[in-house]
Amino acid sequence: MDPLSFAKFPFLRDAVEYVKDQGVTLEDLLTHQAYQLARARGKARVIDALEHGVIQLRPMATEGDRLEEILSYPVARIFVSGVNERFLTKRYALAEAVTMYERLEREELDVVEEVAYQLDVAASRHDESLRMHFSDYLRYTSRLRSKDWKLVNTEVKGGYVSLPQLRFARVLQQALQDKLESELPLPVDEAILQPLQSDIRELKERTAIMREQYKAEDFGAVSVDNFPPCMKHFIGMAQAGENLPHSARFALVSFLHHIGLSSDEILNLFAVSPDFDASKTRYQIDHITGESSGVEYTPPECTTMKSYGNCVEPDSLCNNPKTKVKHPLTYYRIKNRPMKAPKGGPSSRSSVPSGQR
Ligand code: SF4
Repeated sequence: MDPLSFAKFPFLRDAVEYVKDQGVTLEDLLTHQAYQLARARGKARVIDALEHGVIQLRPMATEGDRLEEILSYPVARIFVSGVNERFLTKRYALAEAVTMYERLEREELDVVEEVAYQLDVAASRHDESLRMHFSDYLRYTSRLRSKDWKLVNTEVKGGYVSLPQLRFARVLQQALQDKLESELPLPVDEAILQPLQSDIRELKERTAIMREQYKAEDFGAVSVDNFPPCMKHFIGMAQAGENLPHSARFALVSFLHHIGLSSDEILNLFAVSPDFDASKTRYQIDHITGESSGVEYTPPECTTMKSYGNCVEPDSLCNNPKTKVKHPLTYYRIKNRPMKAPKGGPSSRSSVPSGQR
């Protein structure tokens, strides 16, 4: 692989060796004037991850551009470690992985195979397709909920799963995300962080702002505490950056819409998902809420939720024969009912969310 490839995929083992060969020391990278642009680019890398979920492309026309891009990667990792916030670490790992996926879409199969090799994913070429050992395939697709990823829905020959380039790259995305999450934060000491202090302070502030923005504990006047267990579970998955199966996503979006959340509030919830695509997600939300389709979908009943495996951890209210919860919205309405006032006492009412229908 050449320096341009290392600049595009700076997490590769060979990229680390390349930096060593250039004779760049850690001290120089963090303090020397010659590497000021690499440090700025490292910081921009973290901000891109935090605020856009993907690392923006920069021109890599010259040798200097490419070295700067390669060096920005270790700097970004040091910044993430200095901030040391799980929210940022996850967001950064996801953004680097999504960026790699987008770049692999346009690469030759040889490059995809080499990236897999350097991520320790057992892969091989077979004619014009790529194959991955089924054990790696299972490891990295276990959290991808779509049925398409089930091993039974793939062709396995001699212990290898054949995949088109895009799907192969999607599995590598998960492999890189897992690798980065396991490596970060790095054990950085004061001597390393000192020269970056003011940038780290700024990144901490930006992280706090973004974390607030994505917080799902409260949607304005709508309290998640009163959500049925199934919906709480799906929100937790979305917030953890996990993919929701289509049926669960449909149920969650229609539920949130029916209790009064705006499309923007719903969109924000999905922004940390591994496959987040703002325009695609917006399209799906607009379709489910009737904005574009003219049909306002209602969340499925509990029996349908059960048949799709979406009735998760039903609690005592779900199982109480007297309350007859047959629908997630019924659960939510019961939870939001005004409390009965004690006999002779003043009426005590719990607040009903303004958006509730
Ligand atoms: S019983 Fe209904 S409301 Fe309760 S967790 Fe299952 S699907 Fe959700």
